[in-house]
This record gives sequence, C-alpha cells and structure tokens, in this order.
Amino acid sequence: MNRRRELLMSMAAGAVAGGLPGWAHADGYPTRPVKMVIPFPPGGSTDIVGRLLATRLSEPLGQTVVVENRGGAGGTIGAAEIARATPDGYTIGIATVSTCGTAPNIYPKLPYDPIKDYQTITNIAAVPGIIVVHPSFPARNFAEFIKVLKANPGRYNYASSGAGGVGHMGMEMFKIQSGTFMTHIGYRGAGPALTDVLAGNVPIMWDNLSSSLPYIKNGKLIAIGLAYDERIPQLPDVPTFIELGMKDYEATTWYGLIGPAGMPKDIVAKLNAESVKIIHSNDFKARLLDSGAFPIGDTPEHFAATIAKEVVKWKKVADYAKVKL
Ligand code: GLU
Repeated sequence: MNRRRELLMSMAAGAVAGGLPGWAHADGYPTRPVKMVIPFPPGGSTDIVGRLLATRLSEPLGQTVVVENRGGAGGTIGAAEIARATPDGYTIGIATVSTCGTAPNIYPKLPYDPIKDYQTITNIAAVPGIIVVHPSFPARNFAEFIKVLKANPGRYNYASSGAGGVGHMGMEMFKIQSGTFMTHIGYRGAGPALTDVLAGNVPIMWDNLSSSLPYIKNGKLIAIGLAYDERIPQLPDVPTFIELGMKDYEATTWYGLIGPAGMPKDIVAKLNAESVKIIHSNDFKARLLDSGAFPIGDTPEHFAATIAKEVVKWKKVADYAKVKL
C-alpha cells in the first residue's frame, strides 16, 4: 500500500472511530501498542538509551512500546523504515548523530532526508565519544597509544558501530589530527563491534560511552580519552582529547525520538510531553547518567534545529577527513 493510500485510510478510520472529520488525533491515542524502531542492534548506545525510554513510556501511554532493532548499513536501514512508516503515531523511532548527522553526508543514495522526512519529538540524551583498547593492546594512556601507533603504522585495526557513522568519522578525524594510521572495520552497531573487541579480535574501538562504560569499569577495556568538551563524573580520571592537546576534538552523539513526517500535531505534543516528563524525572536522569548519557528532553522545534546544525557540522568533517564509502 502506498503512503498516500495509507494516509487516506487512516484518516477515514480516525473519522469513524472518533466521530470527527479529518485526521487521527490524540484523543484515545494510543489504542494499540506503539512500535519503536531502534536502527542499531542490542548492546549499543542507541539500544541502551532508546530502550530506557520505551520501557518508561508504556505506563503513561497505557500501551506497550515495543522495541524493534533494525540494524545495518550504519543505521540507515532502520532510519529509512521510520521515514517510510505511516505517520499515525504507531511507529516511532530513534534518530542518532550517525543516521541523521553523518550518514547524509557520506551515503551517496540515502533513502531518506534527515530533515524533511521526520517529525522530531524530543532529543533524549547526549553521549560522549570515547576511544577504548583491549587490555592486550600495549598502551594504558594517550601518550603510549600514540607512541605504539606511530611505531607501527597500519598494523592495527579499529572497530566502529558502522561505515559512515560517528565512530568511523570520529576516528578518521583522530587519525588526521594525531598523524596516526589504523584500518577501519565497520560493524552493524556498537554491540557486535564490542563483542569482537572484548574477545581481543580487534584491539581498538571508537565508541559512544554508554556501551563501553561497564567494561571500562570492570577492567575489560582501557579508556584512552574522551571525545567530549569536558571530563565527566562517571570517569573522572579519563582526560578529554582537547586537554591532551587535540584542538576542538569533540564528537558528542545524541539519541532523539522521532516519527515519520506528517504525524498529527496533537499526537506529537502528547509524545513530547510524556517523554520530557520522564527524561526530566530524577530517577530517569539517574539511570541515564549511570549509563554514561546526559539527559536533554527539549521541544520538537529545538531538536529539529539540532539535526539541521549537525548535518552542516558533519559535512565539514566529512569533507576534511575525506571519508568515502
Ligand atoms: N549512535 C551510535 C552510532 O551511531 C550508536 C551505535 C549503536 O547503538 O550501535 O554510532
């Protein structure tokens, strides 16, 4: 069924169900489970942050929010699925810096427009970037890391959450700024990448903190530095790359709630109000912070402006680092 037909049918259904002319609307919404598409597999930061919100949203909505992981192609497969869904509030999903900031500048034929094809709901949280190594890698800090890489150009591989994503872009920038060389191995998400790094198959990873944090804490990974503008309370001893002398080197990722463009305004308002209430509640904030994520919870307009700025920011990085697929 094409999108226009679906739209007309759901308008008709809304008119019959609510006895009102026009669109599906928030009265009674949702009357059935809501699907949340997470464009990366379990184990990555998108799944960690998205699932935290999905679990909590079910209660105020009075319907289960069912998570569906749709990983692949740097998150662009799941992102395309969100863009193509019927805009009735029953399919929502998570946008990340990779699907809506970096990929649009790198994928030659992206099946969605990161600005026009989505309705933003709220940006949930920001997560610092981090470089970690397996304990068998012969470096315990930034200085040793650089020394080993410079002594062995091209000998080491690094893992990322996907080709064209923030981990890939972040490390390519790092290589240019530090004068080092490593070979990229892109995975379907940070979850599968971490599995290989923890097994010692790939020694280095550019990750988003939430997925690595438990392994840094239990010593299974060593943190080399944070791609963030300041140190964080979760890892007070890990320096930022900026303080280590890498000018402006920062790559914060964000995870926001979106749906397809064309959603009824009152459904957007309801999803925004309930999500923001959760994100700003003390226990949810504490859970995010424990996961290495910093709460946001803004308006749909503010989140849309963030995406627009991020597309421009990552275009400059893509051009500078000459990342091509
Ligand atoms: N936002 C991260 C990325 O796009 C998430 C990776 C993941 O969840 O696997 O690289």
